[in-house]
Amino acid sequence: MAHVLVIGGGIAGTATALALDKAGHDVTVYEAHPDAAEDIGAFLTLAGNGMRALAQFGAAAPVTALGFPLTSMRVRDASGAESAHVPLGEPGDPLLRHRCLRRGELNAALQAEATARGIPVRHGARLTAVEDGPDGVTARFADGSTATGDLLVGADGVHSTVRRLIAPAAQPRYVGQRVFYGYTRAAPRTQESSCITMVRGSAAAFGHAMSPEGETYWFARVSDDAPLPADAIARGTPGRWRELLVPLLRRDPAPVADIVAATGGELMVTNATELPPGTPWRSGRVLLVGDAAHAASPATGQGASMALEDAVVLAKCLRDTPDRTSALTLYEALRRPRTEHNTTVSGNISRGTHTASPATRAAAAGPASAEAAALARLLDWDTDIRS
Ligand SMILES: Cc1cc2nc3c(=O)[nH]c(=O)nc-3n(C[C@H](O)[C@H](O)[C@H](O)COP(=O)(O)OP(=O)(O)OC[C@H]3O[C@@H](n4cnc5c(N)ncnc54)[C@H](O)[C@@H]3O)c2cc1C
Repeated sequence: MAHVLVIGGGIAGTATALALDKAGHDVTVYEAHPDAAEDIGAFLTLAGNGMRALAQFGAAAPVTALGFPLTSMRVRDASGAESAHVPLGEPGDPLLRHRCLRRGELNAALQAEATARGIPVRHGARLTAVEDGPDGVTARFADGSTATGDLLVGADGVHSTVRRLIAPAAQPRYVGQRVFYGYTRAAPRTQESSCITMVRGSAAAFGHAMSPEGETYWFARVSDDAPLPADAIARGTPGRWRELLVPLLRRDPAPVADIVAATGGELMVTNATELPPGTPWRSGRVLLVGDAAHAASPATGQGASMALEDAVVLAKCLRDTPDRTSALTLYEALRRPRTEHNTTVSGNISRGTHTASPATRAAAAGPASAEAAALARLLDWDTDIRS
């Protein structure tokens, strides 16, 4: 049994803790935020592969209590014509359906699940330094406290402190899109709640879905050579972003602009970024997972699902290989090609160097046939990771 320090209590960190705990390790999560309700703004879609990963460590059921399922995706062009309507994931199994949910609620549910299983989640613990040695790795926190373990997992997101300490040259880069997103209960009901609609508009890639309760979740990815400056984001208001977006979207089919016009205070923006493929993930007893290792632009909607897959594969590697070094080597060999493929495809869509066909979008939403079977086997808790 190893004593593992997990830095970051987001999706990657809590999932890693749950999977390592199931594999018999002694895990503690250190989260910088003082409470669980971090980042309540953003929503995301968990794809079938992410739900499958959650099921391996018994966390799919609490997550299906959140948000709502998506069983199909409709694609419309700038004229409003439907170019595709494809099924999503594995609609037959309620635990494996795609889900649309708020990231803060997902984080809170996974943290609650960890706490219920006796995994300590320490809030207000902001890592500032790491000392790696032959007998253990020590984490230092901003409040002066320290913790020592056999392995330190950096799950502290795209702006990871752990990554800065082990790979200072690796920096997230802007991929040419600003992403606006929001929620409204005031938009007209235009479609069934189990369908997400993507509109390839004239000025933005727009997506919207409506919960069974009538709340519309939407995003708009707007291309721009320059990222929004941090101070503009900090000073921006929902009204300012609405004024900017609505005229751009008026050229697109209804109800795109109307949804944004109907959105009140829950309207946010961020720059789409990615970590360059080749970013180092490991140094001695330190490993990066989730966005800290392989943040991708949001275009394929796979970042959270990749983090959940990381958790299962890491736990199985540590369980099924004879020592830590071979486990981490195998983990990287299994995860790097898949995550970097996602980063590349997603980045190309964001940069406009790749037009997402309905087939590509469906593939991004979940792998097909042989690849899906191989992934299912890799994730299956009951198979040896080396088989
Ligand atoms: C606009 C947008 C839309 C997206 N849509 C989707 C989608 O539809 N589907 C999808 O799968 N993915 C989506 N993603 C990506 C997804 O949000 C990320 O891949 C996912 O949140 C990564 O989880 P993580 O745990 O690695 O990082 P995070 O969620 O960033 O969590 C990192 C945690 O570490 C903590 N932390 C940071 N620094 C420290 C420190 N020094 N010490 C201790 N703790 C620390 C943070 O407080 C945080 O809780 C989207 C991303 C964006 C920006």
